[in-house]
Amino acid sequence: MNRVVGAPKGNVDDYHVIELVGEGSFGKVYKARRKFTGQITAMKFIAKHGKTDKDIKSLRQEIEILRGLKHDNIIAMVDAFETKSEFCVVTEFAQGELFEILEDDQCLPEEEVRAIARQLVKALHYLHSNRIIHRDMKPQNILIGARKVVKLCDFGFARAMSSNTMVLTSIKGTPLYMAPELVQEQPYNHTVDLWSLGVILYELFVGQPPFYTNSIYSLIQKIVRDPLKWPENISPTFKSFLKARSLITLGLLNKKPAERLTWPALLDHPFVRDGPGR
Ligand code: ATP
Ligand code: MG
Repeated sequence: MNRVVGAPKGNVDDYHVIELVGEGSFGKVYKARRKFTGQITAMKFIAKHGKTDKDIKSLRQEIEILRGLKHDNIIAMVDAFETKSEFCVVTEFAQGELFEILEDDQCLPEEEVRAIARQLVKALHYLHSNRIIHRDMKPQNILIGARKVVKLCDFGFARAMSSNTMVLTSIKGTPLYMAPELVQEQPYNHTVDLWSLGVILYELFVGQPPFYTNSIYSLIQKIVRDPLKWPENISPTFKSFLKARSLITLGLLNKKPAERLTWPALLDHPFVRDGPGR
């Protein structure tokens, strides 16, 4: 394969592709073994075709930023390189998906949800401290590594796409986890990730996302307007983490970004602060 001038590091020939593991809005993902070291990796190929020069430039910049990130709860980048026609991002391979847990178990006990919440909060705090907004938080982008360590992946890519591309890809997938301001194409900030975190934690506990319907149009209406419905068995602490009753204490699932629980108070919320951590 041709190397593009200025393209960094490795080469596709450094890997032995084992199998296709999935396909998402940005491209195909393969399981691959790195030659000589034997490390099992995930190779994500992102086609350049159909992207503007601006998109390609910002994707390249984004990949350089991601290369420098290092956190226990974030999928580590092993390598990244590009050819004439595509980008390839190589990351550590994670065994399971949060998505699969949802399919198998339907819902999780609150203590399990809490253990996952703590790790995702740490991952998001790290990303946001590095001025990176994920924008595509959903169970498919949360992987489970060895010893049940939660690993967040696919952050940053979304931001590198022009807003047009982004809206299209989100609708092609699902806006289930998208904040009210995002589905309405209003200005947004890092708190869109905190909303999505709230949706994911709610779904893990209840077995279904808080706003749910097959039609994208009515889903958007629900996200923007509908109040939350609470299951009987939710603890007051978990409930206040998701949606507090007063303005003095804020929750993740507040429709207005300015009324959403965020840093640094989020780190101090009893739902994630107390109890055994990882
Ligand atoms: P999106 O493109 O919006 O992120 P997605 O997560 O469904 O949607 P991809 O990110 O392309 O799509 O990933 C496709 C699948 O590949 C994932 O659902 C997951 O099963 C698998 N996958 C991705 N990264 C890894 C990884 N590092 N380790 C193991 N499996 C992975
Ligand atoms: Mg993904």
